[in-house]
Amino acid sequence: MPASPKTFHVKSFGCQMNAYDGERMAELMAAQGLTATDDAAAADLVVLNTCHIREKATEKVYSDIGRLRKDAGEQGRKPMIAVAGCVAQAEGAEIIRRAKVDVVVGPQAYHNLPELVARAAAGEAALDTDMPVESKFGHLPGRRKVNPSAFLTVQEGCDKFCTYCVVPYTRGAEVSRPFAAIVDEAKALVDAGAREITLLGQNVNAWNDAEDRGLHGLIRALDRIPGLHRIRYTTSHPNDMTQGLIDAHRDVESLMPFLHLPVQSGSDRILKAMNRQHTRDSYMRLIDRVRAARPDIALSGDFIVGFPGETEADFADTLSLVDTMGHAQAFSFKYSPRPGTPAATMADQVPAEVMDDRLQRLQAALNRDQQAFNAATVGRTCTILIERRGKLPGQMLGKSPWLQSVHLIGDHAIGDLVEVALVSAGPNSLAGEVTVRAAA
Ligand code: SAM
Ligand code: SF4
Repeated sequence: MPASPKTFHVKSFGCQMNAYDGERMAELMAAQGLTATDDAAAADLVVLNTCHIREKATEKVYSDIGRLRKDAGEQGRKPMIAVAGCVAQAEGAEIIRRAKVDVVVGPQAYHNLPELVARAAAGEAALDTDMPVESKFGHLPGRRKVNPSAFLTVQEGCDKFCTYCVVPYTRGAEVSRPFAAIVDEAKALVDAGAREITLLGQNVNAWNDAEDRGLHGLIRALDRIPGLHRIRYTTSHPNDMTQGLIDAHRDVESLMPFLHLPVQSGSDRILKAMNRQHTRDSYMRLIDRVRAARPDIALSGDFIVGFPGETEADFADTLSLVDTMGHAQAFSFKYSPRPGTPAATMADQVPAEVMDDRLQRLQAALNRDQQAFNAATVGRTCTILIERRGKLPGQMLGKSPWLQSVHLIGDHAIGDLVEVALVSAGPNSLAGEVTVRAAA
């Protein structure tokens, strides 16, 4: 291991909150004078920013550590390895024992990464999985250069305790960042090149402050920042979907018509066993209210198949819910028992082959709906935020207001907002033709 690392590489797995944390850790190491490298095997320090939500995600960390050591070893190198994120929080010292890594740091303690790296370089144990009362955010360097579409964590943790989920254990209780700190960070992101900000939280719509502004009040304040053209937020819980937030979808032009609102299952029996605290019917009525406020809203969500005790009739309820909701897109997962969660020890765990079959059928229905949603937007004109270059000469890629990937040919810069007619749709992307260049 190098005495003191000069180069680093951060690799993030899992959710957007991890992507945000990964960016902040990279900024932190850069502020210490280390240089970022894209080649993990050539870095002196590799930070694996892990996800613990499903078993596959956890096992991947251990195989990644093995592969990293092999690739670096072939170049005669032995990098310092730091494990961050939710696996670090959940497994703690077990990772040091099992994989002999140098640093373990939890998601609420990563502002201490430089100190932990220094301790590891000095041959000392370097583990920090504390959840301090004082927030890490005040210890992180400012935002400097970002993509046109940037993430901003506004809320962390979860008090909902869905019976399948590790998040309340790995990320701790629900905490909202202060209003002024968020507004300052949003302004800094815009100054650093952001045109769109996605507000992040495990339960982002539970964000609140002492003035009871609610997420909708925060969004209305951010809407006033010059140069910030688009606001999004993810992920929300149905029970925190207030009328104020629904009204913001009607009134606030920069709030994009997209809502990621996981329902998980269409069966009331399973929703109860999951401790979701909403029913199929209350979810459907909620979406009706959102659509009344913003008729073109693109609905997204998460589904779990094979929760313990899920029968074919329960699964049929999920399929029938999907048939009536018209999702623009959605994520679907096989249930994965997580150690320490109530569902992991429930009776009637569903066999793997039954889960496989249900996942396939659910995904076929969701793909059908995604294709239909995309096809229904053909013929519309909308603004595309250009995010990167495509593979073909002159091709640029960006996002529509409904979070669809759109490719177009044109002489545009990354960060431009371009008026585009949507001319054709595939399952995963659309083609657009430029009409007028909008404000940058
Ligand atoms: N807080 C958000 C919510 O409740 O919708 C999302 C949190 S979680 C990071 C993202 C998704 O992972 C969940 O919505 C759920 O569908 C899925 N998930 C969580 N725990 C799971 C488990 N044990 N097995 C399979 N999927 C799981
Ligand atoms: Fe996990 Fe449920 Fe909290 Fe979402 S609401 S993070 S699924 S416990």
